[in-house]
Amino acid sequence: MEEVTPHVYSLDVKIDWFPQPFPPNVHLIMDGGEGALIDAGFPDDESFNTRMEWLRSVPDLKLKYIVITHHHFDHSSGAAKLRDATGAKIVMHKDEEPLLKRSATEEIPSDVDVPKQDAGKELPEGVKEWIERTAQWRKEAAEAGADELVSDNDTLSIGGLTLRMVHSPGHTAGHISPFLEQGGVLFAGDNVLGMGTTVVPPPPHGDMFDYIASLKKMQALNADVMCCGHGPVVREPNRKLQELIDHRHEREEQILALVGEGRDTVKSLVKAIYPELDKRILGMATSQVLSHLSKLEREGRAKTDGEGAEMRVSV
Ligand SMILES: [Zn+2]
Repeated sequence: MEEVTPHVYSLDVKIDWFPQPFPPNVHLIMDGGEGALIDAGFPDDESFNTRMEWLRSVPDLKLKYIVITHHHFDHSSGAAKLRDATGAKIVMHKDEEPLLKRSATEEIPSDVDVPKQDAGKELPEGVKEWIERTAQWRKEAAEAGADELVSDNDTLSIGGLTLRMVHSPGHTAGHISPFLEQGGVLFAGDNVLGMGTTVVPPPPHGDMFDYIASLKKMQALNADVMCCGHGPVVREPNRKLQELIDHRHEREEQILALVGEGRDTVKSLVKAIYPELDKRILGMATSQVLSHLSKLEREGRAKTDGEGAEMRVSV
């Protein structure tokens, strides 16, 4: 357990076979014998038991809430098991719970690309287990659901602390970035990763227009510290948020310039923007371009026709 501020701690959620450099973060807020978790991590025995050991090591801690920033299984799948063990309530935004429920049976984009098994093809070591486990975890998370649904600006109290719910859609529709008023700690969820940029899927699953508005809304809080969905703590939140806004605006200008030069399909835009692209992340790159185009179209700055990589674009 690592101290972020005197009331906020980061708990370890490492699992050996997580396919990305930074596993999801779980944070614990504590005051006056009460506690709240921000996100839940995975339900596998090993990482779950480590989290429980930390929680039990704090004398007389009553865990009141498990606040889920968004439904993706790397943040939500451990919630039900944690609730069973602690009696805490699972809290989620009202627009997010339906996505959690649907993700048990539907293909809803997530942060972590879970590979699919092609008929007759052998999967590499460990991948089959990863597919089976994630399918099971999504189901578990969906069946458990939330105990308390919240809206923008609702507050929860933890001891003498106030945790404000900040609706920050874009990565998902009901994404929240809870803000701890004492100490100015913003829990960014997956809107900000400690490094790199997050995935913002095109509508209906994500929304670039909303995402950039959410980053600005988060900036207006003037947080002192930002805890992210993955990766290290950010000590200059507004600078980091500005970097992310600038990055998206630059990409937008680049897309408009390329279309102006005659690149009039999504496929050709992806090729020009990501010339060295690894085939495995082609889908993700395409979805980022589609997201930007949907924002530009909403703003009346681009026109599109068709779907996916074959979509035609004009300005
Ligand atoms: Zn996510």
